[in-house]
Amino acid sequence: MKVIVSHDIDHITVWEHLFKDTIIPKFMARMHIELFNGKIGINEYTLRWADFFKNKWQNIDELITFNNIHKVPSSFFIAVSNGVGLSYSNESALVWINQMKKRNCEIGIHGIAFDNKAEIEKELNTFLSLSGQKQCGIRMHYVRNNENTFRYFDEAGYCYDSTENSFKNPYKIGNMWEFPFQIMDGWVIEEGQRWQTRTLEQAKDTTKKLIDRAHTENLNYLGIDFHDRYFSHSFKTWVEWYMWTINYCSNQGLEFVNFTQAIQELETP
Ligand SMILES: [Zn+2]
Repeated sequence: MKVIVSHDIDHITVWEHLFKDTIIPKFMARMHIELFNGKIGINEYTLRWADFFKNKWQNIDELITFNNIHKVPSSFFIAVSNGVGLSYSNESALVWINQMKKRNCEIGIHGIAFDNKAEIEKELNTFLSLSGQKQCGIRMHYVRNNENTFRYFDEAGYCYDSTENSFKNPYKIGNMWEFPFQIMDGWVIEEGQRWQTRTLEQAKDTTKKLIDRAHTENLNYLGIDFHDRYFSHSFKTWVEWYMWTINYCSNQGLEFVNFTQAIQELETP
């Protein structure tokens, strides 16, 4: 089994949310609930205010550096349209697309449109013209999809999608590869809540069980989704969980690949 780690970029700055969505009040509520429940300490709480005043809600460069040191190819999904609390502009996205290209990352789209074929095609075309790439993959924001979404992706011309959450090996939908993934940071740390409910040790236990299950079910690729937003000491449990997970996989002798490398392997007879 190999591991495909990927990252969804949900936020770039704090200000992008002003007058656009309800993310800032939700963020405030969340950090106070977590402080009063003892899930975060005063240091972490203070650092969250610091991020807020620095207007910095992404940690892309820091994450790429960590990944490089640990031989994890950096694969990102970045959005080129807005919705469900994702509000950064294409100008902001382009700054980071260029930076990620410079650092040899794999870049796909963090998709917003899921039930409208024309909108899906528009996102793909916008991304291809911004990035200069000839093709790309996608993961939906909040993994939104319906019975048509994946077919629309294939028809639009995406080469891979990683939105499905299941213990299945990659499979083809038309010409597109679907890469189901099994582990997401929020699922193991929040367990369905809007704030942190689990401790680091509990999150590690859940993760070990998910990796064991991937082995038992003979998966060739284990998919892990970690949001760059949380690669910061202001989200102590999250960053420690990510570092632990990467080390745990390395110690098990698992190799890391990105989607493009996996497709090459899958298509080599
Ligand atoms: Zn997202």
